[in-house]
Amino acid sequence: MTSAEPSIFTRIVAREIPADIVFENDSVIAFRDIAPKAPVHLLVVPKTQEYANVSELAAGDPALLAEVVATANALAAEYAGGEFRLIFNSGESAGQTVFHVHAHVLGGALEEGSLAQ
Ligand code: 5GP
Repeated sequence: MTSAEPSIFTRIVAREIPADIVFENDSVIAFRDIAPKAPVHLLVVPKTQEYANVSELAAGDPALLAEVVATANALAAEYAGGEFRLIFNSGESAGQTVFHVHAHVLGGALEEGSLAQ
């Protein structure tokens, strides 16, 4: 995302919008999705809004992508018994609505075979 306009997630980082934050460090933040699609539904978000989607993040800062995955893994261990589905929607037709890269961490009694978020 190159726009100077802060994304909704940047506004959560800035505490302009409330969220149920479960983890934060210098580079990532994680909070509960406002519209959960699974018993555990967390979003892990790089604090920078420089990358709109996971492909941009992988190309631009692979270490930060690895940190997103490691954070998802640690949070799944804490909140979802260690097993989880990790989803990055990329593009509008794939269901992406917030163009500030984020991982959906889904866990706990997921619907069999479902790929939906
Ligand atoms: P996307 O559809 O872009 O992959 O995912 C965006 C996600 O952000 C959606 O699952 C949506 O429910 C969540 N979301 C949108 N606005 C907010 C908000 O203000 N707070 C929280 N906690 N989640 C949000």
